[in-house]
Amino acid sequence: MIGIEGKVIAVTGASSGIGEATARLLVQRGARVLVGARRTERLAALVEELRGVGTIEACALDVTKRDSMQRFVELARSKFGRLDVLVSNAGVMPLSPFAAGRIDEWDQTLDVNVRGVLHGIHSALPVMLAQGGGQFVNLSSTASHNVWPGCGVYCASKYAVNAISEALRQEHDNIRVTLVSPGVTDSELAESTQEAGSRAFLTDFRKVSIPAIAIAEAVAFAVAQPSNVDVSELIVRPTASAA
Ligand code: NDP
Repeated sequence: MIGIEGKVIAVTGASSGIGEATARLLVQRGARVLVGARRTERLAALVEELRGVGTIEACALDVTKRDSMQRFVELARSKFGRLDVLVSNAGVMPLSPFAAGRIDEWDQTLDVNVRGVLHGIHSALPVMLAQGGGQFVNLSSTASHNVWPGCGVYCASKYAVNAISEALRQEHDNIRVTLVSPGVTDSELAESTQEAGSRAFLTDFRKVSIPAIAIAEAVAFAVAQPSNVDVSELIVRPTASAA
């Protein structure tokens, strides 16, 4: 299958930001899209907006729960008969220095950003292998290439996404694996940072940003390639970006 039209694509974390923009663009380009997140009222509004444009369904999803991810993937398969692409986009970024001891936020970061991706692989890989191919698009970050004070756990989570994705790519000849690594992008991501010093850091760090559609276009580019072409990583950042 070449291109986007007709592909069945599931997008996690589609209730805002990059996931929402990606789902919207893929529906506009003719994919059959399943969107998931915890804020189901946001998903319902997106479905309503796109109903006349193309094919889209929504499902409550908590990527930290293995059963929830399993149900999400199963819904794509039962509604549309297959699953061509899983976009593992759901993510959080509650930054803080280690000395602040915000260990619950460390757990949340690893649960959503790492375990969520693993749950996606666990649920979707058997479906893709059984149908003879598929693609994982995992949202990483420029934070998988750089480290800053206060960003240790978030960076670790994205370094982990890179390692997981590269191993998955090497393990299969018919499964495409793509990392999309944004720089600062307009979204609600910074709102998950509560620690005062880190919020101040982010206000400065996020002064220059690009719109979420820029990342959606990168996802669409990788999905649209022929099945023997794997775009392994795309780094998409503001032109005026030091890191
Ligand atoms: P947003 O905060 O706007 O979106 C994050 C999405 O993740 C929301 O839809 C949220 O939905 C979802 N999410 C969070 N926790 C869960 C969960 N437990 N289960 C299911 N969904 C969940 O941020 P972005 O759009 O920016 O983030 C998208 C991805 O891009 C993330 O992986 C992020 O790390 C990455 N990224 C973003 C950058 C940026 O500057 N914006 C830069 C580099 C990477 P809900 O709360 O409704 O569940």
